Amino acid sequence: MAYEVVIGLEAHAQLLTVSKMFCGCRTAFGAAPNTQTCPVCLGMPGVLPVINRKAVEFAIQTGLALNCRIAPMNRFARKNYFYPDLPKGYQISQYELPICQDGWVEIGENGTAKRIRIRRAHLEEDAGKNLHTGIAGASHVDLNRAGTPLLEVVTEPDMRSQEEAHDYRYFPDPDLVPLRIASEMVEEARKTLPEMPEALYKRFMEEYGLPEYDADVLTSAKDLAKFFEDTVKAQAGITSLSGKELGKETSNWVMVELLGLLHKGKPKPGGGTEPWTIEQNPYEQSPVTPQGLAELLIMKRKGEVSGPIAKAVLEEMFNTGKSATEIVKAQGLT
Ligand code: ZN
Ligand code: MN
Repeated sequence: MAYEVVIGLEAHAQLLTVSKMFCGCRTAFGAAPNTQTCPVCLGMPGVLPVINRKAVEFAIQTGLALNCRIAPMNRFARKNYFYPDLPKGYQISQYELPICQDGWVEIGENGTAKRIRIRRAHLEEDAGKNLHTGIAGASHVDLNRAGTPLLEVVTEPDMRSQEEAHDYRYFPDPDLVPLRIASEMVEEARKTLPEMPEALYKRFMEEYGLPEYDADVLTSAKDLAKFFEDTVKAQAGITSLSGKELGKETSNWVMVELLGLLHKGKPKPGGGTEPWTIEQNPYEQSPVTPQGLAELLIMKRKGEVSGPIAKAVLEEMFNTGKSATEIVKAQGLT
């Protein structure tokens, strides 16, 4: 018998609020265990949760980015299970009325993009953390994370449906009123959304006349897209050429020459390179800035330097941080 595996994904995204989902405790990571807690997130009896407005705003923004419908009325529910890092004995989540519903996201290479349907994205709180190392024979519980806002994004298995594997005895949380989302709040959130990758990709092809491949590479990282666009704009400001006239050549230089140099690593003061660390952003910390590259490309366009010389100058700019004009003057490269 042949089987076909069909899988839907559940992904938890932490919403970057300053305070927790239902209390005022900080969400900052790395504090000493149990120092960012209060009776609400410790699950003490008699306390009442209060919904964090910022978390709701972030959930709406994410829902819009995922092409979801924002439910005008949604509700929190208790998901009952026992675990040492869940002091209440239930997690506050959303069940039959989630805040974001019926969206989609496109994945994969442009041209062969596949649309993944999103069934729902709901607000919930994170649990604490059990620590099983440190003292032999003992486990510790750190509740700093308990109550941190999460958005759980649930995709469709994109063929058949699967019943919930466990029965958590969900029921509407009687401590929280249903959450009504005014349409003004949704429109407000829509205004704050950045340009989405798909829109950016299409705009790069239209505005700069780029082929699909170039648009795909340049929009693969937000800061790379910005680098390219800043380089075009810096040239346009000086030469009065249009984005379409400057687009393809700039793309070649950013995508091939500059990325080639950045991939080698970060230049060291004494010469040579070292790998970029995870905290470093090569596009922001590149020794060659968009303005610097624009200056070089204008010199090349005016015929002040040839193509092969421009490449050598770019490498020198990258290694030394000097400007194209300085290098050309010092070396008499015209
Ligand atoms: Zn708290
Ligand atoms: Mn969850």
